[in-house]
Amino acid sequence: MFRPPSLPTLTAEGEGFLTPEPRLHYLAGPTPGPGETVAIAPGLHWLRMPMPLDLNHINLWLIEDGDGCTLIDTGLAATMCTAVWERLEASFLRERPLRRILLTHFHPDHIGCAAWLQRRHQVPVRMAARALPAARFLMEDPTQAERAAMAAYFTAHGMEAADAFVEELWSLRPGAQIRGLPRIDAPLAAGEIVTVGAWRFEVIETDGHAIAHQGFYSREPQLLIAGDQLLPAISPNISLSAADWGQDPLGDYLQSLEVLGRLPQETLVLPSHGRPYRGLHARASDLRAHHQEHLELLRGQLATPHSACALVPVMFGRQLKGLHQMFGLYECVAHLEHLVGRGEAVRESTAQGAYRYRRA
Ligand SMILES: [Zn+2]
Repeated sequence: MFRPPSLPTLTAEGEGFLTPEPRLHYLAGPTPGPGETVAIAPGLHWLRMPMPLDLNHINLWLIEDGDGCTLIDTGLAATMCTAVWERLEASFLRERPLRRILLTHFHPDHIGCAAWLQRRHQVPVRMAARALPAARFLMEDPTQAERAAMAAYFTAHGMEAADAFVEELWSLRPGAQIRGLPRIDAPLAAGEIVTVGAWRFEVIETDGHAIAHQGFYSREPQLLIAGDQLLPAISPNISLSAADWGQDPLGDYLQSLEVLGRLPQETLVLPSHGRPYRGLHARASDLRAHHQEHLELLRGQLATPHSACALVPVMFGRQLKGLHQMFGLYECVAHLEHLVGRGEAVRESTAQGAYRYRRA
């Protein structure tokens, strides 16, 4: 049950965790180079957008739509990405003008260029209504009270020098990689059918990795634009932050795996990171098992009371730094609070107001 000695890599999106072939069948054919497109289904083009992060790319999808095209997700608002868009405006988008943008979720690598593209192309942008407050929160500079709440949360979970850590985070914060919020006139509803050219997509809305994450499922041909919910080589980050206190994002994510895991096994999955694949039942089941393993690992530590901070290196097999330290702590708390919700652990408060978890 303990983590293997070969430590998984960590990226801004989550922890490296691979379902190997042949449990997954990767789509044959070339992977587009940075900033390039490859057609992978009728009228559907895979655009690999480079990113200046430890995760070096995001997959975007351009779908022919009448005499133009619909874009799904947009890339970070970094010069590296806008340079790709400027080049595509003189090539791909000259042939098939941009007509509409759909966003799977509010994270910066997905929403980053949306406002910038909307201004340049005067197109509607659509995403889930429930995701809008979280997108706004990422954009705005936090108030002094919000910084204090964050530091108090980190301190309560066992971090030393939390004030200095919060200051360090602002220099790293992803909000700097979003250029304004797009105007959303018509939010995208769960269950809505969106027609794009010859494609009919059902919007499948799930929680866990990001509030109101929307995937786009086509029954014929069977294809899922999966966003970050079913990545083939990364277990997407599951965060319980100060702002989400009282929620159960891990429970939500496990529920998402149930919902998406019921789609047909033959469905071609288009993930936001990594390569398109078939084998979504295997992937959903492996991701579920991965979280159960983390829960077991944590439960094994809780014979004596522990802070969440003390358990982060146990869960990830190493000390984490910077943004990874924040995401790692959020993910560890999400697992601990899930155990509390299941009645398998209890959270106690010390006289100083710090949280300690122990086995129930
Ligand atoms: Zn994401």
